[in-house]
Amino acid sequence: MAGAGIFSEIIEEEVYKYYAEGEWRKSSSGKSVPIINPTTRKPEYKVQACTQEEVNKVIEGAKAAQKAWARTPLWKRAELLHRAAAILKDNKGPIGECLVKEIAKPAKDAVTEVVRSGDLISYTAEEGVRILGEGKFLVSDSFPGNERTKYCLTSKIPLGVVLAIPPFNYPVNLAVSKIAPALIAGNAFVLKPPTQGAVAALHMVHCFHLTGFPKGLMSCITGKGSEIGDFLTMHPGINCISFTGGDTAIAISKKAGMIPLQMELGGKYACIILEDADLDLAASNVVKGGFSYSGQRCTAVKVVLVMETVADAVVDKVKAKVEKLTVGPPEEDCDITPVVTESSANFIESLVMDAKEKGATFCQEYRREGNLIWPLLLDHVRPDMRIAWEEPFGPVLPVIRISSVEEGIHHCNASNFGLQGSIFTRDINKAIMISDAMETGTVQINSAPARGPDHFPFQGLKESGIGSQGITNSINMMIKVKSTVINLPSPSYSLG
Ligand code: NAP
Repeated sequence: MAGAGIFSEIIEEEVYKYYAEGEWRKSSSGKSVPIINPTTRKPEYKVQACTQEEVNKVIEGAKAAQKAWARTPLWKRAELLHRAAAILKDNKGPIGECLVKEIAKPAKDAVTEVVRSGDLISYTAEEGVRILGEGKFLVSDSFPGNERTKYCLTSKIPLGVVLAIPPFNYPVNLAVSKIAPALIAGNAFVLKPPTQGAVAALHMVHCFHLTGFPKGLMSCITGKGSEIGDFLTMHPGINCISFTGGDTAIAISKKAGMIPLQMELGGKYACIILEDADLDLAASNVVKGGFSYSGQRCTAVKVVLVMETVADAVVDKVKAKVEKLTVGPPEEDCDITPVVTESSANFIESLVMDAKEKGATFCQEYRREGNLIWPLLLDHVRPDMRIAWEEPFGPVLPVIRISSVEEGIHHCNASNFGLQGSIFTRDINKAIMISDAMETGTVQINSAPARGPDHFPFQGLKESGIGSQGITNSINMMIKVKSTVINLPSPSYSLG
């Protein structure tokens, strides 16, 4: 049960505490933020609404703790991370349960998210030991006009305090993908979890707490992003922001100032299906990519661009598979579960109604009960419909029929987003040429979209992001290069 056993100290009088200076605390605001269960639409948990003074205090503590942490041997930092990963995995049950109740993640996927997060932490520890243990040695006479009188030694130093802000859909995995690289690189972190998903994140932080990291190095501030977000992101004590979410990131990027930013935003994942594709493979991947976790993934397939000549066959195959998806509560491990909030459900519905008014073909009847929306395939979608461009973040998938590959590439590139795309074809040469033409951070050939494995580079172009992630890239993003130059006498200097 969430909040029970080893987690009992993180909750008091039914309100989860926030984490500061190595302990669990109640906010002096006396206020809490309710977390609504998307399935029951009733309050499930409460978290503290932290104050600006509390933010100031944790950042001050983080600064002090970080200095000592940066001097802690790299192998010791890695050892602690491995221990945290093990504790996290041991507690996959209660943490998974929070994910089921807070964000309606199907029970099995919820546990998988926690296990994957443990693996990510361990991999980060191993990768960090290797890449942070290496520097460079340069000699001056490799640049024109110089003698061999300077030796330059470069090393990698931490940035300071990293602010980590993950989104609701992977509140554990997308938190550890920020905080594990931060820690191994010698940084402190302040985590601001999403409101929906905060309790799972607090449980995860407790696993780090039980590991025995130094006091002040890690903190977790809860409260609504709309209330505490600007204060955190514009705080002069923050040296780096790693954010995943929607277009809030654009405003944050404008206000943040001269600090490194890692911004992962949404996407409008286009899946281009050519005439020579294996249509069964394409249909299975469209369904997996479009409807896993009810389409609430940045890398969900969000528009299918299929050649007219094979469109009927693809739509029939996808439709048959969509009809087999189970719909219901996350506790029963259904494929389609309620979307995260009522406002998300309303937004998805507005896209569906717009497509209906403009003449899209509904392959299933539109059905909604509360936040639960039945999976829906919309055929004959045209570029004048909102759903052709906007990210529904729900179990609704538009199909646009195209008459040439160029039309598909054009639609993909006309989007403001550029996260990932897929191509289905048996012609590898064509696939590579289309991949080169698609303005997205990643292109999958003959597969559904995927962020993982977590050590692969992952990045969005255009409004899908700033910077590149994946474990190695995230570690490199959270360091600075420091040079020490040894100046030697001129070559004519006599040793005798
Ligand atoms: P969101 O509404 O942008 O929220 C993301 C995070 O920002 C939450 O922790 C939120 O806290 C916080 N926040 C809100 N306002 C803030 C402010 N003014 N300053 C600082 N932080 C603030 O996104 P979401 O609905 O959680 O997630 C869905 C979006 O994330 C989709 O667009 C999806 O495509 C994108 N996503 C992208 C990736 C990727 O890797 N590219 C991965 C997953 C998801 P509160 O919850 O308290 O508001």
